[in-house]
Amino acid sequence: MTMTGSRIWDALVVGAGPAGARAAQQLSAAGASTLLVEKHSLPRYKACGGGVPARTLRLLDDLEISAVSEGFVDTIDVSRFGRHQFRKASKRPLAWMVMRDRFDQFLTDLAAEAGASVEHSTPVQSVVETDACYEIETPTGVVRARHILAADGAIGPTARWLGIASAPTRSAAYEVEVAAPRDALDHWHQAANVDIGYRPWGYGWVFPKAGKLSVGVVTAPSQGRSIRKQTDRYLSRLGLGEAEVIKMQGHPIRYRRSVGEPVAKGRALLLGDAAGLADEFTAEGIAYAVHSANLAADAVLNGDEPAALYTRAINHRIQPELDAARTISRLYYWCVVTWPWLALTASKHINYLWRAFFRVMRGESTYAEELSRVLLIPSPRGRGIG
Ligand SMILES: Cc1cc2nc3c(=O)[nH]c(=O)nc-3n(C[C@H](O)[C@H](O)[C@H](O)COP(=O)(O)OP(=O)(O)OC[C@H]3O[C@@H](n4cnc5c(N)ncnc54)[C@H](O)[C@@H]3O)c2cc1C
Repeated sequence: MTMTGSRIWDALVVGAGPAGARAAQQLSAAGASTLLVEKHSLPRYKACGGGVPARTLRLLDDLEISAVSEGFVDTIDVSRFGRHQFRKASKRPLAWMVMRDRFDQFLTDLAAEAGASVEHSTPVQSVVETDACYEIETPTGVVRARHILAADGAIGPTARWLGIASAPTRSAAYEVEVAAPRDALDHWHQAANVDIGYRPWGYGWVFPKAGKLSVGVVTAPSQGRSIRKQTDRYLSRLGLGEAEVIKMQGHPIRYRRSVGEPVAKGRALLLGDAAGLADEFTAEGIAYAVHSANLAADAVLNGDEPAALYTRAINHRIQPELDAARTISRLYYWCVVTWPWLALTASKHINYLWRAFFRVMRGESTYAEELSRVLLIPSPRGRGIG
């Protein structure tokens, strides 16, 4: 079946990350003719810690991911520039560890199994809206589709072509994968390091994978020029300065900060990072990418006005989480930079805060609910992960 010519697809999905692959699966499973296009050859590398918060699996209908999981983390090890270390453990896994090339390919295969056509090494080059459909230019010809779902990540161009001014960049992140020695792999077995103290905000992380460690730093974009040096220093503090580097790459992260930042227009919807759906406390975005894909597929399948339906869903179901995460982030990182000892002591001794964080990671609560509890304001019922 050719993807170009006079055929009009029900939906064209741009980008085979978690958002695009999941949306293509949901649409195809419901009978919509769906084309998923990815500019890179698949499977593709993505700069990412590859920590999939446990709550994500619920959003994937309790998908069994053991075939592509590299283990899990149930312990958080906190340090400040490598010192004053302490650990907190959850009774159940907090996050599954994946390599993004394999995880995203797994989700893309599910989309193909559900009936989606998948074209890789196919960059979308421009988009034009006509009365009947969108005309999307690719190297192999023009594709026509009634709906376009832009899941092309934090630096994807589709939002711009559609005239949707999506969220600006608000953090820089740098990731290095190292072939760590056996004692380091044993030390970080099922444990993630979170190294705090970075100015004006941010943290370093170690995530354990099979036979390697993902190490990185996320911080403000103003620190973008020095982020590689900061990561090198962090690696040295971890005793990994001489470890073999398998891969390293930087990438920006964008955060949607208000319901006023558009996520859709007409029959065009922005998903995941393309819409700035990452949270400012942990900088994670995989769960929000999947959640937005579910909401986008529902909006395309169920409404004459998908943009309005989708915008309402994002504003009601996801934005309260991003807002709460931003509030928590500001309070926490301000405290870490201004009163580091107070922040460390509080982090070490107030177990209530850890239990709250663990509940959010596992999907038993939301940032919005936990923040309301602490601030003694009414809980935003019916909001958050659903
Ligand atoms: C260093 C770093 C570490 C991170 N660590 C974590 C973590 O541990 N846990 C977590 O939850 N989140 C993490 N994040 C965030 C997470 O990576 C993103 O939120 C997530 O990848 C968003 O998924 P997505 O599907 O929206 O976009 P992406 O995964 O970025 O996928 C977008 C896809 O679109 C394709 N594309 C772009 N342009 C075009 C085009 N013109 N035509 C066709 N295809 C195109 C790209 O090639 C890409 O495959 C991290 C981010 C960074 C930068």
